[in-house]
Amino acid sequence: MDTVFLGALAYLLDDPFQRSAALEIIERGAIRVGADGRIRAAGERRVVCAGLPSDSRVVDYGDAWLLPGLIDAHLHYPQYYALAAANRGLLSWLEQTVFPEEQAFSSQAYAARVADALVRRLLGGGVTTAVVYGSRFAPATAVLFDAAKRHGLRLFAGVTLMDRNGPGPLLTDPDSAWRLCETFYSRCQDEQDLHFVLTPRFALSCSPALLEMCGEFKRRFPDVYVQTHINENREEIDQVGRAFPEAQHYLDVYDQYGLLGPRTLLAHDVHPQGAELRRMAETGCVVCHCPSSNLFLGSGLFPLRRHLQHGISLALGTDIGAGLHFSVWNELSEAYKIQRLQGVGLNAAQLLYLVTLGPARALGIEDRAGTFKAGAMADFWVLDPTNDPYLCERLDRCEDAESPLFTLIQLARHHCRATCIRGRIVEQV
Ligand SMILES: [Zn+2]
Repeated sequence: MDTVFLGALAYLLDDPFQRSAALEIIERGAIRVGADGRIRAAGERRVVCAGLPSDSRVVDYGDAWLLPGLIDAHLHYPQYYALAAANRGLLSWLEQTVFPEEQAFSSQAYAARVADALVRRLLGGGVTTAVVYGSRFAPATAVLFDAAKRHGLRLFAGVTLMDRNGPGPLLTDPDSAWRLCETFYSRCQDEQDLHFVLTPRFALSCSPALLEMCGEFKRRFPDVYVQTHINENREEIDQVGRAFPEAQHYLDVYDQYGLLGPRTLLAHDVHPQGAELRRMAETGCVVCHCPSSNLFLGSGLFPLRRHLQHGISLALGTDIGAGLHFSVWNELSEAYKIQRLQGVGLNAAQLLYLVTLGPARALGIEDRAGTFKAGAMADFWVLDPTNDPYLCERLDRCEDAESPLFTLIQLARHHCRATCIRGRIVEQV
């Protein structure tokens, strides 16, 4: 039996940084979903609903918006309770706030409670896909995968690997790290929506031996995803230069160990050199911009235009716990402001792309997320402004088709009414 969801639609057909007519907005829209969870048709209601069998189920969201499921491409699960701590920048914040909190995940019971809370919070903010730093403790990361599967979140995650410059309980060694990675990699082989990600925390946390292990793992399992951090903070970049004197620049540390490629996600890149951007483009790496984190830690202003000029794929992340939002939707307004400060204007289509079709393409999951094209999985969320009188009045004053979406990006904060994955409602607010 098909299900038809009714509401206003906004989604991308293509890359709006390349093509101006990439955004589709349909005020009286509908998404028809088959029993297999795939979209049969999406578009104008009268067209999608024409000839609908009488036994079809209809879910009418009235004046609410149906938007593709959001993709949060960078966050840290064991930093769930590290949000909003006063700080003096990245490195001291790691020591004073992050490392103590991450050690609490040695308790599996504690971890299980947080995993459940995090997954539900992500889904409750319209996020259907998340790329996550797991815990250093394997049982804690296992319960994260369990929670994602139980609630229906599409999860990319791995054990956070580090073997230096941190407290003893958070450190591992290359042999143990290999075994853990292999266990989680194998577990994900039979899962359509759970993906293992090789996760060296960042260059300063990893000895050459640990990076060598990661490189060897990537050579052995070339389809594995990789995530790490780069060029977040000037002090960090200086320290990386001292720790790896043979590297030409920060990116070169990861490059020397064979960690770059189209499945590699690099968080931040606030202060890249031209040579690094060229090499990222050459190897097909994805850069993940984390707006509120960059502001909160005072890391700097992300040079989005330089990345686009090099043709680098971009994604957006909340970077919980340095970021301040649990929904990557709320990062869009911060991303907009960071570019305004640099004289760059982003329109609604470009902003929406950064959390839907853009990262879906970058992760190779366009058939499952990020769009409403026929044949794709029905992944969407319902943004409902109708209980917010000011927002409704403001939207009524929008004069062209794209303005309401821009206004929602700037003003809608806790307006997710439901989240749907594979045509099934997994979270209802
Ligand atoms: Zn991070």
